[in-house]
Amino acid sequence: MNKIIRKIEELEEWRRHLKSDINFIPTMGNLHYGHQKLISTAKSSNCNINLVSIFVNPLQFDSKKDLKSYPKTVDKDIEIAFSTGTDVIFIPNTIDIYPPNNKSISYLKASKELSSALCGITRKGHFDGVCTVIYRLLKLIQPKNLYLGEKDWQQLLILKNLVSEKKLNINILSIPTQRDSDGIPFSSRNNLLSKNEKTIVKFFSNELVHSQKVFKKDKKIELNQIIKKLQSKNISIEYLEHLNAYSLKKVQKEDNISILAGAIKCGKTRLIDHVFLMKRNPIIAIDGPAGSGKSTITKLIAKKLKFLYLDTGAMYRALSWLLIKEKIDYNEKSELNKILSNVSIIFKTNSISHQDVFINKFCVTEEIRSQKISSIVSKISSIKEIRDFLVKEQRKIGESGGLVAEGRDIGSTVFPDAEIKIYLTASIEERAKRRKSELDIRGSKEIDFNQLKELIRKRDLDDSTREISPLTKAKGAIELITDGYSINEVVEKIINIYNFKIPKEIQIE
Ligand code: C5P
Repeated sequence: MNKIIRKIEELEEWRRHLKSDINFIPTMGNLHYGHQKLISTAKSSNCNINLVSIFVNPLQFDSKKDLKSYPKTVDKDIEIAFSTGTDVIFIPNTIDIYPPNNKSISYLKASKELSSALCGITRKGHFDGVCTVIYRLLKLIQPKNLYLGEKDWQQLLILKNLVSEKKLNINILSIPTQRDSDGIPFSSRNNLLSKNEKTIVKFFSNELVHSQKVFKKDKKIELNQIIKKLQSKNISIEYLEHLNAYSLKKVQKEDNISILAGAIKCGKTRLIDHVFLMKRNPIIAIDGPAGSGKSTITKLIAKKLKFLYLDTGAMYRALSWLLIKEKIDYNEKSELNKILSNVSIIFKTNSISHQDVFINKFCVTEEIRSQKISSIVSKISSIKEIRDFLVKEQRKIGESGGLVAEGRDIGSTVFPDAEIKIYLTASIEERAKRRKSELDIRGSKEIDFNQLKELIRKRDLDDSTREISPLTKAKGAIELITDGYSINEVVEKIINIYNFKIPKEIQIE
């Protein structure tokens, strides 16, 4: 389908009869490779209709001169949009988007916190204008997915906030900043640069990428030195800041993902660029009660994201196995400490989705799943020395991130700074059903359904009422109740949460 719509009434009529979902890619025209990438990414992700809007929004320009000089190339844009996978192009004019005296148009204010940093400091009202036009377009188009570039990270954060504040049922998907072969991010304003000015922008962008490399090694950057270096090349800096990547507040020691963002002036043209800085790769923490599907789901997520998979329950089980085998009286602290100083727990992948657990060279993968272990593990895992020991081991494994860990206290105690925290749960009935079918598959007749339900109830109680690190929904965790959902649906939900939060630019590192 190759369709151009210019009038709002025509758009509304077309929308009323449309049965498919829409991927929406808003643009201000002068399409470059960054836009093309947005369009082709949307096209290849699903079978939805791809709708691109071309509208130079006067509300987001702080100077009339800037608005006038903004490059306008509609005929060429139409050609590019259709040839990269656009089905429908919406090209409204200003009077239709902002009809004078129309009380039903909402003129919005962007989030104060997010718009008072970076570009918001000098470009007064810019983000209010962005929110107003996007909200107006979203209401008209009613898309399922909104595709935006991470090049304008601050704008992306502000629009995510708008969609959640207005409770719009729209997914926001992003693509990493697309750069030219010389490292300069594609931008419509690049067309306004002279050859000399391009060299300056190139130096600026390359300096940011260099700082990212330095940070990867040293875990810190010297902002003042970077500024001095840029100034020595006569680069006129509007701002260069190192901020928390989500709040856009000054970066704190404990922040893992931060952003080094800058704006420079090249002649009359203002350009922005950024890099993300990361101390370790992202961590996903999945907690929840017995039988909530944590293991299956965590393994699948690890496989999809190519992350390490850490089953902390298996560590508590393996230790329980060892204490029973060695007949250790775990109430006797000196005996317990002695054995803990000689324990090594190792996971070895034996096929793509399966891990073997070794404790002091014994492979205990199967044995630790027995009822004998299940009925004692909660008691053993409530002992302080054991928790201290295993939490330390778990943190060692997760030191460089890139890990998805499951347990009871991952989000609350082991990795409280995990980027994504999920509290996975389901009704006791549902969980007992799942455990029963697992046992049936293994041919285990140890226990019947009602006994299993009782055991799970008891384990829930023990795990959530123990003194140290009880099972609880961690601060910032998203609760997913999985009754009635398939495994794949839950995995997809968590992957979507990950994609929503973690910049693609970091994911492709
Ligand atoms: O997840 P799984 O059922 O294998 O966990 C076994 C037990 O280990 C739990 O019931 C709980 O008592 C303990 N555990 C824990 N903290 C964790 C993981 C498991 O206390 N992070």
